[in-house]
Amino acid sequence: MRPDPRVVRAKERLDRLDWWPRPVRIDRVAVFVTPWFFRLPWFRRFDGHAFHVGMLLRSDGVSDDLVTHELCHVWQMQHHPIRMPLSYLLSGYWNNPYERQARAAVAATRPTAAAPSVRPL
Ligand SMILES: [Zn+2]
Repeated sequence: MRPDPRVVRAKERLDRLDWWPRPVRIDRVAVFVTPWFFRLPWFRRFDGHAFHVGMLLRSDGVSDDLVTHELCHVWQMQHHPIRMPLSYLLSGYWNNPYERQARAAVAATRPTAAAPSVRPL
């Protein structure tokens, strides 16, 4: 299966971080656009949802930041396949350490944040 180009771009961003022992693997990461899923009560407030081998997106128009956030969750589950999903039951959503890490991964790898400094002549 050829990886989705959005996932390839997100991997390029996450590969700049060494937050987990192994880089994120994307060879089996599937992307599904499922607007109906985000009409379900709990998921209404989200635009993306990750699972162990892929992600659901509200639309094709979501940002690269969102795909990077969701791929970070896939990366986390590749290292903590049980602990990560269970953490949402124990820690809730907003202050969940995995959630905070996914937000930090997006912020740390934004193209504007990562622009190399211009070398003086
Ligand atoms: Zn998240």
